[in-house]
Amino acid sequence: MTDPIPTYDALIIGAGYAGLTAAHKLLQAGKKILVLEARDRVGGRVYTKHFADGTYIDLGGQWAGPSQEKLYQLARETGVSTFPTYDEGKSQLYFKGRLKQYKGLIPPLPIPALLSLNNALKKMNRLSGTIDPASPWTHPKASEWDSITLGGWMQSQMKNEKARKLFQIAAEAIFAVNPAEISLLFALYYTRSGRDFDTLMNIRNGAQQDRFLGGADLPARRLAEKLTGHIMFNAPVISIKQESDKVECLGEGFHFHAKKVIVAIPPVLAQKISYTPSLPPNKIQLFQRIPMGSVWKCYAIYDKPFWRNKGLNGLVASDFGYTSLVFDNSPSDGSKGILMGFVLADKARDFTLMNEHQRRTSILESFTKYFGPEAAEPAMYTDQSWAEETWSGGCYTGIMGPHTLSTMGRYLRIHTGNIHWAGTETSEEWNGYIEGAIRSGERAATEILDALH
Ligand SMILES: Cc1cc2nc3c(=O)[nH]c(=O)nc-3n(C[C@H](O)[C@H](O)[C@H](O)COP(=O)(O)OP(=O)(O)OC[C@H]3O[C@@H](n4cnc5c(N)ncnc54)[C@H](O)[C@@H]3O)c2cc1C
Repeated sequence: MTDPIPTYDALIIGAGYAGLTAAHKLLQAGKKILVLEARDRVGGRVYTKHFADGTYIDLGGQWAGPSQEKLYQLARETGVSTFPTYDEGKSQLYFKGRLKQYKGLIPPLPIPALLSLNNALKKMNRLSGTIDPASPWTHPKASEWDSITLGGWMQSQMKNEKARKLFQIAAEAIFAVNPAEISLLFALYYTRSGRDFDTLMNIRNGAQQDRFLGGADLPARRLAEKLTGHIMFNAPVISIKQESDKVECLGEGFHFHAKKVIVAIPPVLAQKISYTPSLPPNKIQLFQRIPMGSVWKCYAIYDKPFWRNKGLNGLVASDFGYTSLVFDNSPSDGSKGILMGFVLADKARDFTLMNEHQRRTSILESFTKYFGPEAAEPAMYTDQSWAEETWSGGCYTGIMGPHTLSTMGRYLRIHTGNIHWAGTETSEEWNGYIEGAIRSGERAATEILDALH
C-alpha cells in the first residue's frame, strides 16, 4: 500500500515577501499550510549577502519609503530597524564628459533642459494621478496610452535632448527597462501605484528613503522563523493539477494535495509551471506578455566612505560607461564605505557579455571619475546579475509593453478555480516593490480564508 498523499488547507508556491506574508496570515488563522520554495533560502528578489567581517550588502531589493506601511509594519513586528539612506552633501551629475556637483533635487542643467524636464515630470504626475490603480484599463484614455511606449511619449514631450536623457536615466532606474519597452499606460499605472514619479525617484520622502539594519531580507527571514516546519526548500513546483475540490502540486520527489494553492511567483515563472486543466487562454496570453526587467547591482567596498569628507553624498547620475546611477550604500555607522552602481536595461544586457575583470574595471573607472583616485582601489568588488537567476528570471519586476494592460490586465488577479495569484506583479499598490508583494500576499490569503469559510 502506498503512503497517503499529504493534504493541506493551502499550499503556497514561493517564499518571497508575497508567499511568506500569505503563509503567515493563513497559519495565524489556524490553517494547515506548506510553502514550497525553489531556492534554499527565503526572500526571493530580496537577498542580503553577509561577509565574515560582519559587512553585508543587499544584492536585490533594499529600500523602503513613505506610504509603504505594510513593509514598515512587518519590520516593526519582526524587530528590524530602518535607517535613513545617506544623502547629506552634494549629489553629482556626469553628463557629456563634464562632472557637476549640486545640492538638492534640481540637477545643474541649462534652463531650456530644466524647463523641458520639469514639464514632462509634472505631466507624468498629472496623467498618472487620473488612473485608478485597481483598474487602469477602465481609464477613458487606456487604449490610446497603451498604444504608445513611454519612450515614444518622452520623444514627443521633450524636444530637448538633455532633458530626455535625464528622464531616461530616471525611468530606467525606476523600471529597469528601456522606456521603449513599456507602454505609457503601464508606466502611468506603475507610477500611480507608488504615488507619483517624484516619490519613485527620490531618496528623502521617496522610495529610496530608508534601509534595513541587518539587510532587507531580515524581515523575511524573521517571518520564516515563525513558519518553521511549514517551508520546504529546494522544492520547485513543476505542475499543478486541479480537480473540483482539490489541487495537487508536484515537483521532483514531492507530491501534495490542498484545498487551495497560492502561486506567489513572477508571471514569467508561473507560466513555466504545467497546469491541468490548462489555465484560461487569456491568463496564459497575459503571462506570456509580462517579461522581467534587466538589472545588475555592482558593489565596491572601501575602508571608509572617503567621498563624505569631500562633501559628497555618493549619489551620481551619469551617461558615461555602464552604471547610470550610483548610491552610497555604506552601513548606518559609516564603518565602511560602500558604493553601489546600478547597471540597467540595455546596458545590463551588454554587461552580461563581459567577464568579471572587465566589469570590475569598467565600474571602477566610473567610480574614479566621480569620486577621485581612492575609488580605484576598493578592498572588494562584487556584482549581481538578476537575469541569470533561474528563480527570478530578471528584475526588478514584470513589465508590460503596449496593448497588454488595457486588453488583458484585468485577468491578472482573478483566481483560477482553487488557484489564487499573488506576487508584487499582482498588486494595485506599490506594484513591483516589496510593499506590493506583501499586500498581494495578504489579499490572496484573505481570498482563501473567505472561500474556506
Ligand atoms: C536589484 C533589485 C533592486 C530592487 N530594489 C527594490 C527596492 O529598493 N525596494 C523595493 O521595495 N523593491 C525592490 N525591488 C523589487 C522587490 O525585490 C520585489 O518587488 C519583491 O521582492 C517581490 O517579491 P515577491 O514575493 O512578489 O516575489 P519573489 O521575491 O520573486 O519571490 C518568489 C519566490 O518564488 C520562488 N519560486 C519561483 N518559481 C518557483 C517554483 N516554480 N516553485 C517554487 N518556488 C518558486 C523564488 O525562488 C522566490 O523565492 C528590487 C529588486 C531587485 C532585484
